[in-house]
Amino acid sequence: MSAADIPDSLFRAMLEQNTVGIVVTDRDGLIVYVNPRQLEASGYALEELLGQNPRIMGAGDAPPEVYQDLWSTILSGRVWHGELNNRRRNGEVHRELVRISPIRNPAGDITHFFAIKEEDLLGNAARLLGGATAILDPLTGLPNRAMLLERISLRLIGDGNVTPNFALFSIDLDRFRVINESFGHFAADEVLVRVAARLRETIRQSDMVARTGANEFLLLLDSENSDTQLEELAQRLLSAIGTPVELQGRTARLTASMGIARAPLDARSADDLIKHADNAMAMAKTAGGGCFRFYAPPAKDQAIAWNDLTAALRDVVKRDELLLHYQPKVDLRTGKMQGLEALVRWQHPEHGLIAPSRFIPVAEETGLIVDLNEWVIRAALRQMRLWMDAGLPRITVSLNLSLRHFGYGDLPGFIATCIEETGVDPTLLELEISEGAVMRDPSRAFIIVDRIKSLGVKLSLDDFGTGLSSLSYLSRMNVDKLKIDQSFVHDITTNPVNASIVAAMIAMAHKLGKRVIAVGVETEGQARQLRRHDCDEIQGYFFSRPVAAEEIAPMLAAGRLLSLKTEAAEPDQKTLLLVDDEPNILNALKRLLRRDGYRILSAGSGEEALELLATNSVQVIVSDQRMPAMSGVELLSRARELYPHTVRIILSGYSDISTLSDAINRGAVWKYISKPWDDETLKDEIRHAFSLRN
Ligand code: C2E
Ligand code: MG
Repeated sequence: MSAADIPDSLFRAMLEQNTVGIVVTDRDGLIVYVNPRQLEASGYALEELLGQNPRIMGAGDAPPEVYQDLWSTILSGRVWHGELNNRRRNGEVHRELVRISPIRNPAGDITHFFAIKEEDLLGNAARLLGGATAILDPLTGLPNRAMLLERISLRLIGDGNVTPNFALFSIDLDRFRVINESFGHFAADEVLVRVAARLRETIRQSDMVARTGANEFLLLLDSENSDTQLEELAQRLLSAIGTPVELQGRTARLTASMGIARAPLDARSADDLIKHADNAMAMAKTAGGGCFRFYAPPAKDQAIAWNDLTAALRDVVKRDELLLHYQPKVDLRTGKMQGLEALVRWQHPEHGLIAPSRFIPVAEETGLIVDLNEWVIRAALRQMRLWMDAGLPRITVSLNLSLRHFGYGDLPGFIATCIEETGVDPTLLELEISEGAVMRDPSRAFIIVDRIKSLGVKLSLDDFGTGLSSLSYLSRMNVDKLKIDQSFVHDITTNPVNASIVAAMIAMAHKLGKRVIAVGVETEGQARQLRRHDCDEIQGYFFSRPVAAEEIAPMLAAGRLLSLKTEAAEPDQKTLLLVDDEPNILNALKRLLRRDGYRILSAGSGEEALELLATNSVQVIVSDQRMPAMSGVELLSRARELYPHTVRIILSGYSDISTLSDAINRGAVWKYISKPWDDETLKDEIRHAFSLRN
């Protein structure tokens, strides 16, 4: 039987029922036929494939030469065979053995291409067993950069009629090196696997997240999103990444820097889109990390890009553009200025004053930090000598040591030389090393710490609480002081959890014989709360911002003091705090209680009330329940934790009764008085409340 005798229906059945996958394209390479076996293998419906380039089923990871070879072979009329990675519709990648032959018409012209595809069972098994080819990242199982590029290119083409509208996130884990070096590579890999899983869980099935570098990910959103939706997603991703991970019995908290670029708004090619997302990520990184930034096209007067920053930083020391600002530290018991922290500033001729959080990471990344730190050490010691010669009171000056410098060269030797040259009393010099720097290489850190200490210099552990140090390291380490990080201090008056963490840190430090200083103290409430917990010193805008050396001299000369009333000096008066977001109600309450002999404080919100509680000794609180940001129950629950001795009354409508009964049961609320209240009942209850505290 010749082909001419075979009925069309048989030909059709041979294609349709064939056990290998078959794809036929026209001469331009657009799909005209796919058999059921191939549809099943790819997971696509026929309609989705017809008219498409077969690359839609490809993993897109083959080098361009492979496709060049493929096309030149088949266009010249020969058969091409090889192996290609294909990507199922659900994202799975599998390896296929492919054979493509040209089909000619009776005149001998190539009209179609006929591809036979069979799954490479052996290759796929090997891949599953770990002998991975480079399609997926073998560690996390995520697609790699090439796959993502391919997907972006496809998205950019769109369906030809509508301009595609989508976003790309560049995600970079912050300070990942520290994790790597303090926990080892196995643990770091484990972290990456978990982060990958969290990213996948946070996005939609149709989005693609790829691992594109050691600690870098790119995330392509499939659907169109408004900027607000992108912001929300960025927040969700940040908090997913930030969920603490347990590593070898210790808790590590990760942060990431994220950049977002939108197509077609920010870029129309895959390369540009990635570049812009990376750029925006670098902006987030220079802002200190743990945040996201949208790509913004460079304007003339805009902040310098990472690259320019590196270039400009190269000879910053030579160009004499650095200067030091000094921020006082004050003793909470005596109120006296106890020390100064030297903080470096970069006075750029065009960009003005640049904050260290922007250029220290760049300097650390590039190794320029060593020159920079040496400049700082010299400059600070010279300044100390000047103050000494001017006859000003002796004061300790602390310097920050970067991670990089800590492990580099002969730091103790350099410091000793500078001390000798300037003739400064070494006990007036203090070095701040961050907890992370120590944990990077504890045994080496111990040796350097001991050598520095042998010079007579003091040492403090900076950013305490943010690193990963364990109690055993802490007790063995020869540091004099712990600096509690700002992140614990900023909400110490409103967040009972942080307040108790800080109290515990202080108590523990004292048990180990170390002094404690809290950084970032901005309000009187925070200062008083810290004093109540027995903190030794504070540093922050509340007393002074970092200022130029010229401003320090008069402060020192005048012996400027921190003015915090001592608890004992407070008016021995019954103090009542009223809280309501409606000014009319507050006024009515004040009028009602005016003649009862209380000192009355009033607050329009929960936050305001907590700040007042931190700065005053209050015995009785009367709060409204329904307030916008923080409800009355929430406020009183926090007040119960922070100030257990207060008697707490809530004013509320009947509808809130179920929320209230729970709060009453937990002891957060002593009494509930319904609104509108009866004047005499309210006065009686408040009198009763005060009697409980006498
Ligand atoms: P740090 O050692 O934790 O320094 C404290 C930072 O908190 C300073 O930021 C200071 O200006 C800021 N700060 C102080 N009080 C308050 C406050 O009440 N509220 C707020 N919001 N911030 C406050 P700055 O000067 O931008 O320095 C940032 C970091 O840069 C420093 O953090 C330190 O790690 C690093 N750094 C600064 N100078 C040097 C240096 O000379 N060498 C090295 N290696 N690092 C430095
Ligand atoms: Mg510091």
